Amino acid sequence: MEIDLLIIGAGPAGLTAAQYGARANLKVLVIELLAPGGQALVIDILENYPGNVGQPPKSGYDFAMDLHKQAQDFGASFITGEVSSVKKENNNFLVSLSDGSSYTAKAVIVATGSKPRLLGIPGENEFSGKGVSYCATCDGSFYKEKHIIVAGGGDAACDEARFLSRLSDKVTIVHRRDAFRAQKALVERTLANPNIKVRFNTVILEVKGELKVKSVVLADTVTGAITEEEADAVFISVGTVPQSMLVKNLAALDDDGYIITDRKMSTNVPGLFAAGDIHSGAFRQVLTAAADGAVAAHNAAAFIDRIA
Ligand code: NAP
Repeated sequence: MEIDLLIIGAGPAGLTAAQYGARANLKVLVIELLAPGGQALVIDILENYPGNVGQPPKSGYDFAMDLHKQAQDFGASFITGEVSSVKKENNNFLVSLSDGSSYTAKAVIVATGSKPRLLGIPGENEFSGKGVSYCATCDGSFYKEKHIIVAGGGDAACDEARFLSRLSDKVTIVHRRDAFRAQKALVERTLANPNIKVRFNTVILEVKGELKVKSVVLADTVTGAITEEEADAVFISVGTVPQSMLVKNLAALDDDGYIITDRKMSTNVPGLFAAGDIHSGAFRQVLTAAADGAVAAHNAAAFIDRIA
């Protein structure tokens, strides 16, 4: 198959890029490691996507499935696989997969997003899947009416806590500072939620248990007091780390490992674009990821026209 535009990653950025690329009459191939949807899959209610005003608004999962169908309907092809390298050879990109297959393409959009940041505390790994989780919509239903700890103070932590507060009235957010970093509307709703208790200026030192999580050891960062609190689950939402390893020897990255792009979503390598959470300075919303994907595909099409 002769490919014009190869897209790595099928989150909102990659899926939108696929649709725009296919509509620009490019032969588009999307390679995704698992299922399409990316981080959008874990959004319970996608209430801040303009126009998503149903009762209730569509979930991130349903939204991603629609994006996927739309891209396919416009002619984009999808395969599942693990990309192991991206190289520029002459005027083409050579994209290799860990199963030994490879593809050449005239332009590439990297839309590999990010993955949850770990807390790096004792017990986190040991109890992962046994009470420690990074996804409330995936695992929350195991902890109905249980005591749930959520770590973090950003949009994701507040979103996760809201989802969990419908399953249990014993949700505690533990945040290391004295104020949330999340958007004002989310903060107000979190603080007003009777099922959510907030412990500011607190860090989790350890997750303890036997076969599953039983408690967390907390430290008050102001007084230094250390306490142990009973807990059945710990949902960790302390940010994300970019999945840019694939292009670390090809494209310029910022100090945190995000790919540096210009307003056209071009990297420093002609024909290589980046879109969504993976690019430096992103606002990191489904909306902005989708917009990045459209911009990247539009400019990839222009690039392909220029080199034709
Ligand atoms: P984030 O905005 O980077 O927030 C991470 C939070 O975790 C911060 O409160 C941070 O504390 C805390 N944190 C980081 N490292 C920590 C550590 N080692 N120990 C304890 N706490 C730690 O990340 P996010 O909430 O995952 O969101 C990621 C991006 O997705 C953001 O751009 C966000 O706006 C977007 N997002 C949007 C929505 C929405 O619009 N509904 C939903 C989810 C995510 P400090 O505040 O002290 O730094």
